[in-house]
Amino acid sequence: MEKKNHIVILTGAGISQESGIKTFRDSNGLWENHKIEDVASPLGFAKNPKLVLDFYNLRREQLMSDEVSPNKAHTALAALEKEYDGKVTIITQNIDDLHERAGSTNVLHMHGELLKMRCINCNNTFDVKDKFDQKNRCPGCKKIGLLRPDIVWFGETPYFLDEIESILNDCDLFISIGTSGNVYPAAGFVQLVKAIGKAQAIEVNIEGTEISNHFDQHMIGNAGEKVSELVNYILKGV
Ligand code: NAD
Repeated sequence: MEKKNHIVILTGAGISQESGIKTFRDSNGLWENHKIEDVASPLGFAKNPKLVLDFYNLRREQLMSDEVSPNKAHTALAALEKEYDGKVTIITQNIDDLHERAGSTNVLHMHGELLKMRCINCNNTFDVKDKFDQKNRCPGCKKIGLLRPDIVWFGETPYFLDEIESILNDCDLFISIGTSGNVYPAAGFVQLVKAIGKAQAIEVNIEGTEISNHFDQHMIGNAGEKVSELVNYILKGV
């Protein structure tokens, strides 16, 4: 593989599957046995805030448990950022912190982060590792009951879209890992990159996806194995 200046990597739930975190598609479009609209939409939160807060409390507890840690794919991407001559940017749809725990530093969480809360009143965000409920007070404006998970739910605008657009314009190699191609705008990034016309696009997934036809190359298999292989190719310049 010839040298590229800027490698942009889009990751989805599939990259964290081998770390023990379930994807949406694992269970017929349910997220840990919940309908997505119940736990990942503003309407779901308005209807039943307790259910939503409990759901993310459990996700956070699972993420912080000894059972979950970065896998070979996260580690390989962190090594790529460290050892590659050019720039490496990760755009992740994941709300976990496994890229950071593996050592990646240039990561954009376009769908927010499980370990952060946001105040609906003052819009400040705060790190959170423990459970919280509707009685929690915002450390900023001190109002009670107005904190929500800092997660972009369905129907809300993803974070960093302007920055992402300019990153995609600058991209020389685009790699998509473990994402189904069902959730927009992330699912449209490959088409944007191909329309700009300078980057090769590689898809890593255990199976073909809705958007596979837009990629130049496919690596079919578990992210742990395939991403390690791909990073080796890139670093050796083959
Ligand atoms: P998705 O669940 O829609 O799709 C997962 C994709 O990963 C599928 O195409 C599947 O074939 C592939 N996959 C599964 N196991 C894999 C493996 N071991 N190696 C490689 N590929 C594998 O996920 P998505 O496309 O990221 O979009 C859904 C949304 O799910 C995102 O917005 C994200 O915020 C949310 N989500 C995040 C997490 C997380 O943070 N880990 C977990 C569940 C859902």
